[in-house]
Amino acid sequence: MSCLFCKIIAGEIPAQIKYQDELVVAFADINPQAPVHILVIPKLHVENAAELAAQSPAALTAVFTAADQLAKTEGLTGYRTIFNTGADAGQSVFHAHLHLMGGRGLAWPPG
Ligand code: AMP
Ligand code: ZN
Repeated sequence: MSCLFCKIIAGEIPAQIKYQDELVVAFADINPQAPVHILVIPKLHVENAAELAAQSPAALTAVFTAADQLAKTEGLTGYRTIFNTGADAGQSVFHAHLHLMGGRGLAWPPG
């Protein structure tokens, strides 16, 4: 198993876990781009959001439900959720992950 995020799910690499259930794990991003920057990932290894939608709509829903719950827990009044798909969009880890960001004003459009 060479996937970094699968290793975090397995507990082989430490992470600041914020939430987990049978479908998802959420942990603090190691290089936060906002005061709150959490990654919500499915336990199922798939490369990107579209693959997750195809293989497990329930897990995709659980990812967004967890993100919304975490936003409330973190006291966010607004937040941004982002799935990067492909290297050209900035994806660097090819295990689907939803970025949950907030805690500061977020510019639009993103860079
Ligand atoms: P992306 O560029 O969309 O693929 O996002 C990958 C994210 O994973 C980046 O924001 C990284 O900072 C984050 N990241 C990489 N390694 C770790 C790690 N060991 N623990 C937590 N976050 C990580
Ligand atoms: Zn993986």
